[in-house]
Amino acid sequence: MGNHLFDLIRSRMPAPEARFALLDDGRQYSYRDVLDASARFANALAALGVKPGDRVAVQVEKSIEALMLYLGAVRAGAIFLPLNSAYTPAEIAYFLGDAEPAVFVCDPAKADALRPHAEKAGARLETLGVGHGSLRDKAEAASASFADVARGPDDLAAILYTSGTTGRSKGAMLSHDNLSSNSLTLVDYWRFTRDDVLLHALPIFHTHGLFVATNVVLFSGASMILLPKFDPEQIFRYLPEATSMMGVPTFYVRLLQDQRLTPASTKHMRLFVSGSAPLLAETHREWRERTGHAILERYGMTETNMNTSNPYDGDRVAGTVGFPLPGVSARVVDPETGKPLAAEEIGMIEVKGPNVFKGYWRNPEKTAAEFRPDGFFITGDLGKIDRAGYVHIVGRGKDLIITGGYNVYPKEVETEIDEMPGVIESAVIGVPHPDFGEGVTAVVVCRPGAEITAKGIAAALEQRLAKFKQPKQVFIVPELPRNTMGKVQKNLLREQYKDIYAAKLKAGE
Ligand code: AMP
Repeated sequence: MGNHLFDLIRSRMPAPEARFALLDDGRQYSYRDVLDASARFANALAALGVKPGDRVAVQVEKSIEALMLYLGAVRAGAIFLPLNSAYTPAEIAYFLGDAEPAVFVCDPAKADALRPHAEKAGARLETLGVGHGSLRDKAEAASASFADVARGPDDLAAILYTSGTTGRSKGAMLSHDNLSSNSLTLVDYWRFTRDDVLLHALPIFHTHGLFVATNVVLFSGASMILLPKFDPEQIFRYLPEATSMMGVPTFYVRLLQDQRLTPASTKHMRLFVSGSAPLLAETHREWRERTGHAILERYGMTETNMNTSNPYDGDRVAGTVGFPLPGVSARVVDPETGKPLAAEEIGMIEVKGPNVFKGYWRNPEKTAAEFRPDGFFITGDLGKIDRAGYVHIVGRGKDLIITGGYNVYPKEVETEIDEMPGVIESAVIGVPHPDFGEGVTAVVVCRPGAEITAKGIAAALEQRLAKFKQPKQVFIVPELPRNTMGKVQKNLLREQYKDIYAAKLKAGE
């Protein structure tokens, strides 16, 4: 038995001298460098005593070395466990306690603050910065050849903690086959080849930047331009050299605000992919008008890798996430009874396939609760499949509003608000209401200088939505709270507005 994931990557590599990455300091990284550097990291980890199945937790800044550490961990038979670089030491303490890694690799600047937490969890602390760090030194000194540790398709390659916007983060266990099967499918579906150059501006602690973007490049033998973060200046600087880009919706919204976005500046591009949060239909339309390109929207999650995608050929329909990927089954069921629903009916989206994770780390109860007896995973996303087979997402199940006994899907109200002139975007939430259980509440971002008021929005909705769906309160704010993946943090909004109806009652309004 070989090393399932790395053997596949190796078998698909182009010539060793072919470029794997161009870095923003001008350095070029070849596929030979990938083999050498990942072997050095694998040797360094093995020398630290990392054994097959051990977790290697990593909280570092984005760098080529961090990507090589990921591959080195896979080759050493370990379980790679990346952590959001924004997590505080207190948050890191929770993850280390839960995951009990053998080694914890952090940024050199954070080592003093994190060392006590690593020690408490029984993990050895190493550091890795951009071009320096104790683990980097060990890797530099190690051999560039390594006999990959045998790992089968069902062995774990990674644990990714969910972003935890609806509760405590849970570790999603992803096997070698979960990752490789999805990468193979995406390369094929999105037509990646060795000629592709991917503009990589996503973080690499999340499934999107680490597995979708990086593995698609590795599995197609393509190359990437590895940028430390999303910065429109950098994007426009490197765009002429790229063929494709993967981004969260915020990337596209920000780039649309830039005059350099034209048909000429994007003419050579083959593909723009969006995911991790809903892309507004309007952003899709504006992008098409400005560039001539239809953004390809896809849907996935930490636990499942990618589930659905708009087609490469054929209509990329704005506001939908496309069709189930080959090998993936998707259905919409009644959340209460689990009974499959007909086309166009809204319910819980469930998925099954080789992409779906092996369960939550050390949490068999939660794992059992999220799977149906026939193996379908309950995504927690509400949506529908239309008559043409396109999947639509209407929001997280936990964001569903129940007001006076009626279900209100936030997306329906948000879509009405977003279409009003002068509105940029909106978030509709349910917050405690003394009479209705929950009160529909809209938080709206308007264009600077737009002549629009909260009252005006509420009045316009009276014509468009049934009474129970109409927001009882509308707030205009400068921006919506978002996490690093561009997701609107409705939990923060619910917290912020939780007392408004009780307060009104008290004030006798
Ligand atoms: P994460 O585990 O951080 O990748 O978040 C997964 C969640 O992001 C999904 O369950 C969806 O709620 C949301 N998501 C991902 N892609 C899309 C998309 N294209 N449209 C709407 N929501 C999405």
